[in-house]
Amino acid sequence: MEPRKNSATSALYAVKAADLVGCRYRLRQRVEHPEVGPTSEGVARISRVQAAREKVMSLLPQRPAIGDGRRRAFRRTDLTGPDTELATLEALFDQDHVITGAQLSGWVDGAYVTSEIDVLVRQEDGTYLPVMISNHRVARPSATSTMRYIATHRLGLGQALEARAQQRHHTIDGYRAALAHLLLDQMGLGCPEAAVIGQERERAYLAAVAPYVEAVREALVQPTPTEPRRLKQCATCRFWTLCEPELRAVDEISLVFPGERARVFRDKGIHTVQGAIAAGIGEPSAVARAWRDGVPVLSRVETTSAPRADVEIDIDMEAYLDQGAYLWGAYDGIEYRAFVLWDEVGGEVEAQNFAEFWTWLMDRRQAAYDAGQTFAAYCYAAGGENHWLLSSARRFGVVSEAEIKAFIASDEWIDIFAYVRKQFVGPDGLGLKVVAPVAGYDWEDDIDGEASIALRRAGRLGDLAAREMLLRYNEDDCRATRAVREFLDANAPGVPRI
Ligand code: SF4
Repeated sequence: MEPRKNSATSALYAVKAADLVGCRYRLRQRVEHPEVGPTSEGVARISRVQAAREKVMSLLPQRPAIGDGRRRAFRRTDLTGPDTELATLEALFDQDHVITGAQLSGWVDGAYVTSEIDVLVRQEDGTYLPVMISNHRVARPSATSTMRYIATHRLGLGQALEARAQQRHHTIDGYRAALAHLLLDQMGLGCPEAAVIGQERERAYLAAVAPYVEAVREALVQPTPTEPRRLKQCATCRFWTLCEPELRAVDEISLVFPGERARVFRDKGIHTVQGAIAAGIGEPSAVARAWRDGVPVLSRVETTSAPRADVEIDIDMEAYLDQGAYLWGAYDGIEYRAFVLWDEVGGEVEAQNFAEFWTWLMDRRQAAYDAGQTFAAYCYAAGGENHWLLSSARRFGVVSEAEIKAFIASDEWIDIFAYVRKQFVGPDGLGLKVVAPVAGYDWEDDIDGEASIALRRAGRLGDLAAREMLLRYNEDDCRATRAVREFLDANAPGVPRI
């Protein structure tokens, strides 16, 4: 199969922007195995994208506003029929002002590409601005930077405005815009900017498309790989059931060392797991051996340890996308407490919930001090918690940022993952889901990121079972963190030493 030289009439063979980001072998699998449908996470993601599109479509203008004057020319075309490409060309030919659901295909640098363009907006000079709808946050507030945007309800009618914001780059959004630009440019309709409507549905943020165009062109001339290589994204890829046997058949080294981690071996001419085991190069060889033997964790040290305190609280936070933290769970060894909101995040209710959590935590600390006891709060991989502690302080002002910073920097806030990473190594990483079972802890439910988003949505609509499951899952995360700490403190019985 050679996708880049196949029939220009077959949409199946056309390269999409998503084929150029991350695993390049996926294109080959997509072409050769059209029967493999998306995973359940993929289906959930598609439905979220669809919901985003529907929301934006409802915001786009249907006609000029009163202030635009009655003579203002404006024509919006929504393409929903079967031959979208032909309809897109017709709408472009007709010089429609806003075209939604557009699609263009063509040859770019020897590759046949296709681009689904959520919205095309005619510019005064006759070119078209491609607008992509994304579930990413595409801009964040900034005191020092500005970005230009057009209000979604004024696309095709209004001028760009300026906002104090800084662009957040998402490669896939940029590549989608770049492919659209390249195809428009071939018709003399390419404009130097593109826009992305992210989580803030009311704004289409503008950015130069040139940097992404260059990257896309570089990606397009790369040949499609003929064999899979395991990457991080394989864990959520629909083709894993096809790729895994291929990788195992050749004992491919990326099974143990995904992505760039295999480079050090490949540079030495080692391409198999067996080769890595036989190389006798210390820890990497031991990890390869552990993978072969089904051993999840090895210890790097003779004696493992974790800091303890008289009063210990294990904390886990759940956020909804990057919109806000809706659950702060805490387990003190006896009781689990959940500070949770089922309303929308980002407003007064989240502020109050955060304040209650923080006050409770600080009260527990003060009570420990008053009793002459030491105090520590723990979490596993503190990145998310630290982000939302600081962000909550900044957004709501109910706790000072300085107070949060001092707490994060203190010896009373302990990231157990950092201790695990220093002392353990494992062929499947050292996530809580890998390490806690070794410490004898199992979760009642198995919920991944997409499922938790779906549960949160159901919980918000009043589904009590979904709420209960999310709380149970959060409690399990808190208890699992405690189990790992105690396991380290007990010198990790049963874990082989390297
Ligand atoms: S399973 Fe991995 S190697 Fe295979 S197509 Fe998906 S991401 Fe690529």
